[in-house]
Amino acid sequence: MSNRAKYDVLVIGAGPAGCSAAASAASKGVKVALLEQEEAVALHVRTSGVTWKSDADALGIPKELYHPIHSFKFFSPNGYSEVDCSREAACVLDVRGLYRFLAERAADEGTEIFLNHRASKAIIDSQREKVSGLLASGRSGKTIELNSELIIDASGFHSFLQKEIGGVNAWTRFGVGAEYEAYIDNVDENSWMLMVGSNFSPAGYAWVFPLGRKRARIGVGIGRPNSEVNPADWLDELIAKRPGPLARLGRITPTEFHFGMVPNQGLRDTFVGKGYAMVGDSAGQVNPLVLEGIRFAIRYGRLCGESAAEQLAYGYNALLTKYEAVVKNEMKRRVDTALRVQSRWLNLDDEGWDKEIEMINQFSCEEFLTFIKADFSPAAIIKLSAKHPSLAARELFSLVRSSLGF
Ligand SMILES: Cc1cc2nc3c(=O)[nH]c(=O)nc-3n(C[C@H](O)[C@H](O)[C@H](O)COP(=O)(O)OP(=O)(O)OC[C@H]3O[C@@H](n4cnc5c(N)ncnc54)[C@H](O)[C@@H]3O)c2cc1C
Repeated sequence: MSNRAKYDVLVIGAGPAGCSAAASAASKGVKVALLEQEEAVALHVRTSGVTWKSDADALGIPKELYHPIHSFKFFSPNGYSEVDCSREAACVLDVRGLYRFLAERAADEGTEIFLNHRASKAIIDSQREKVSGLLASGRSGKTIELNSELIIDASGFHSFLQKEIGGVNAWTRFGVGAEYEAYIDNVDENSWMLMVGSNFSPAGYAWVFPLGRKRARIGVGIGRPNSEVNPADWLDELIAKRPGPLARLGRITPTEFHFGMVPNQGLRDTFVGKGYAMVGDSAGQVNPLVLEGIRFAIRYGRLCGESAAEQLAYGYNALLTKYEAVVKNEMKRRVDTALRVQSRWLNLDDEGWDKEIEMINQFSCEEFLTFIKADFSPAAIIKLSAKHPSLAARELFSLVRSSLGF
């Protein structure tokens, strides 16, 4: 191609948000380019890939791209709780398979995908006072100029475009995680294991998420700025020392290493500016309770792409009045409440964790899912409190109630 090209919509980053945005914009007939800095979609996996079965189904994720989970096991230094759903309630995604599936759908809708192209500079149209394109550097060092009416920043944690134009600062509260995909002799293929307390993480949690055929993702997440510990070193130590339930896992043979960062600060104040929008991690669209964002990246990626196409077709600011308005309406209060719960969790000592996870034993499957997905609403919390008066008396519940304003 020549050194210059023009598109209606440019999307930065072929993660779940970017691929989904590109597919939905292109499906509305606009000309879309998707830039990915790596030489393959999902070359490096930066996530554990757990999501909820109902969301996977609603988003149309094919069954062969996940391993189902029926129950949830929690370990604290001296405590244990389990929620057994006796059905497929959550799943661990084949992350590489899913992201490539999403990229293929984008391609199928007509998106041009530029692998090995890193967005390196924003082009500003000073007359129209808007972002009007990008410079992208390819593998050979060649730079191309791509112009467009709208840019969707789906670059993930680093929020490339916003930082480039000085719109936002780097996240100050975030999670950093290290994990192995591994062959594990005695992994329970139906359950996730989540481990909290100072043995497992200095500020966060450790996990084992099964993938089937004796494979699992075993990792640790650490909250910044609460702790500066390197999660990769911590994980190696955990595997060497084997505290708590890790002692029963038998041989753990890593086959792949994953490392990543995820924002943990709530939603950006706005996701939309002149000529651009942010989606996914770049906009802070993450559930702070377990730092999961893939389902939001796909759902809101689609909405963002569709709104961008409508904005181009009809000339009204659909990115602001539709995309941003819907996301905030659905997420803001829940995320703000979850952030308060999470900040309590980050300050619990081992004894506090032993007490906190006791409460999980009382939850039914549906109640647990409502809580862990941060689906907080006054109606859900009133229902929960009525059924479990002892839970309602807990500090955690008064914190949730006060955050929801009742
Ligand atoms: C350790 C860890 C564990 C997690 N576990 C879970 C989990 O179990 N479940 C869950 O739902 N979520 C989990 N998350 C969060 C989840 O990974 C993110 O919410 C999700 O990946 C967000 O998708 P995204 O498309 O916004 O960004 P990303 O997946 O980060 O994709 C961004 C893409 O943009 C590309 N890119 C970046 N900058 C540029 C540039 N300048 N030019 C071109 N390309 C660029 C990147 O290479 C990447 O491909 C976890 C995160 C971490 C760090």
